[in-house]
Amino acid sequence: MRKLTGLIASMGLLSGAVALAEQITPPTYVCHRTDTPINVDGKAEEEAWQKAWKLSPLRDIEGAAIPNRTEVKMLWDDSYLYVYAYMKEENLWATLTEHDSVIFRDPDFEVFIDPDGDTKNYVEIEINALNTVWDLLLTEPYRSGNLALHDWQIPGLKHAVQLYGTINNPADKDEGWSVEMAIPWTSITGHSNQPRTTEPPAPGSIIRMNFSQVNWQVQADAASPCGYSKKQGKNGKPLPESNHVWAPTGKINIHMPEHWGYVKLSATAPDTWESMPVPAAHEAEQKLFAYYNMQLEYRKNHGTFNTDASSVPPGICASVLTPEYVAVETTVPRTGERIRLDSHANLTRTAPTGLIPLIYLWVHGNNHPGDAEFWGNEFRNYAAAGVNVLIIGGSAEQIAALTPLATQHGMRVFAWLWAANRPGDEKALQHPSMYAVNRVGKSCHAPQDRPFVDYYQFLCPNNKQVRAHLLAEVDKLAALPGIIGIQLDYMRLPDVILPRGLWAKYGLDMSRELPEYDYCYCSTCRALFRARYGRDVAAQSDADAEWREFRLQSVADFANSLMARIRSHHLQSACAVFPTPEIAAQLVRQDWSRFHLDLALPMVYYSFYNENPHWSADCTATAKQSTQERFPIAPGLHLPDTTPEQLPDELSRLMTASPAGIGIFCDELFTPAMQHALRKWLDTQAKKRPSTIQK
Ligand SMILES: [Zn+2]
Repeated sequence: MRKLTGLIASMGLLSGAVALAEQITPPTYVCHRTDTPINVDGKAEEEAWQKAWKLSPLRDIEGAAIPNRTEVKMLWDDSYLYVYAYMKEENLWATLTEHDSVIFRDPDFEVFIDPDGDTKNYVEIEINALNTVWDLLLTEPYRSGNLALHDWQIPGLKHAVQLYGTINNPADKDEGWSVEMAIPWTSITGHSNQPRTTEPPAPGSIIRMNFSQVNWQVQADAASPCGYSKKQGKNGKPLPESNHVWAPTGKINIHMPEHWGYVKLSATAPDTWESMPVPAAHEAEQKLFAYYNMQLEYRKNHGTFNTDASSVPPGICASVLTPEYVAVETTVPRTGERIRLDSHANLTRTAPTGLIPLIYLWVHGNNHPGDAEFWGNEFRNYAAAGVNVLIIGGSAEQIAALTPLATQHGMRVFAWLWAANRPGDEKALQHPSMYAVNRVGKSCHAPQDRPFVDYYQFLCPNNKQVRAHLLAEVDKLAALPGIIGIQLDYMRLPDVILPRGLWAKYGLDMSRELPEYDYCYCSTCRALFRARYGRDVAAQSDADAEWREFRLQSVADFANSLMARIRSHHLQSACAVFPTPEIAAQLVRQDWSRFHLDLALPMVYYSFYNENPHWSADCTATAKQSTQERFPIAPGLHLPDTTPEQLPDELSRLMTASPAGIGIFCDELFTPAMQHALRKWLDTQAKKRPSTIQK
């Protein structure tokens, strides 16, 4: 099992080169380790299960979002991979009781495991509400013509179901059913070309997985032994089943393991937040498999492979192209890995030779409204300069208009949402109680009482109306087609201490916390504090450690509620944060090491702090340490602090902290000279890597 790490060890963010705009990013999941035993009874009542994170909601197999009726969780230990699923179901029914029956003829829950991600030798388990199992091994997907090993068994598989209702009784409405499984690691390895091992997987190993729930439309039928019969179409056959899956394949065919999700086995405790980026090699592999699938289809129709070199799409090259055998290769732009796939589905990868960071650019999408020509030109230039991801601000309509222009040029898009600071928010302005209040009782609602600048219109992190309002804003942005995530900005309270370099600008000595800048003392927050700590906020509240802690957690809870909602929409949660969690906690009550982030974009703007350029890299290294690298960090570069001539050095300095990416603030200063400097620097980074290409 140690092989797992070796075979899919290359980690990074999704690759910048996008093959298809409509491509679905596969889901990822960090599976935590349990140190306490799991009793497989279908109930998942153990503390580890209570703390375990849910997988992202299931989708239709072709990719559409569907109402969320299923919850799936996973855990692991040295002996087993544990899976738990709860499914809502009004009509519980099942008929199959014999082991290895074709279970999906009943409503079922299915687990797929490709241990090394090579699309071969993968395990499939199907189970129905009568706890009947079909376990099988597929040496290759059905598309290559090989047969599945149906009589293959998993010795030691533990499985149980719980029914919440009465099965096979149409007279009442049921609640649902749950499945719990312990799948021994020894069954996941040790077949066909893989060495059998009794060793547990190494922490950090990545496996490819999918889950599927098959549903049939039924009606009560007294003549049927189970009380139900499948509804029939006009042709007299049962209506087709619906397939709800974790990782859509884009087709009504789950046996396309190249589209499955990525699961990382983490050694940390179940309630630890950890995010897993899609491996950098993913998109390159997708390209190879798309070509491979095309060739299999061609052979099916013509008897041989297509040997026309023009059938090979740009970005990949064919090293062998004969009627009987084909092999294609490509290089992962960000890592230098060379990947090869042949017509027997043999997938090989060289080791990464160095990671080029993803480049993020903040874009003020409210400029040049409606000017598609202007933005089309800009975006083409940004992409050519090497920008991978745009963080686009403005109204939902403006972001919606710009997203397709960005994806056209191969860039991905985060929508930029102002979270706790909402200048000019018409809805919020009608409700003064939604605003944060300072230690002297002044609210951010009143124009004459706002701290520093008029656009500081901060909302209270604990106010229920505020949370509902921002969740609705998340839902609005999440509905924009084509975005891959939402980036929260101002996810904090006002600056109780300004960065050192800004004190003179506002004529303030902020070496200690001043009451006028110390928020949120609103009645909601004070009452919550009283309820939690059994006392009022101390008179000397700037020295009250519990009150400080209360506010750090309030901001984190607010952030995490928004981030959970973002992920429920199959999107990534990012946040622009202060330089390190420690600095952020001290200055703006933002301890972002507690945030459930998929990406942190720390604004390590050294000039704000009267610091030198090295400070930015130091902050990034500190932040990586204090977050234990549980999510990727892409430090931001403040363009006013640099010139095109200095840009390469600035970027190289940030790279000493090995960040996953680099953010650039912002588009208005990202001039052609800056773009040219970025391109040149990226090319130099790529050239510095030892070449793995053998011609
Ligand atoms: Zn408050």
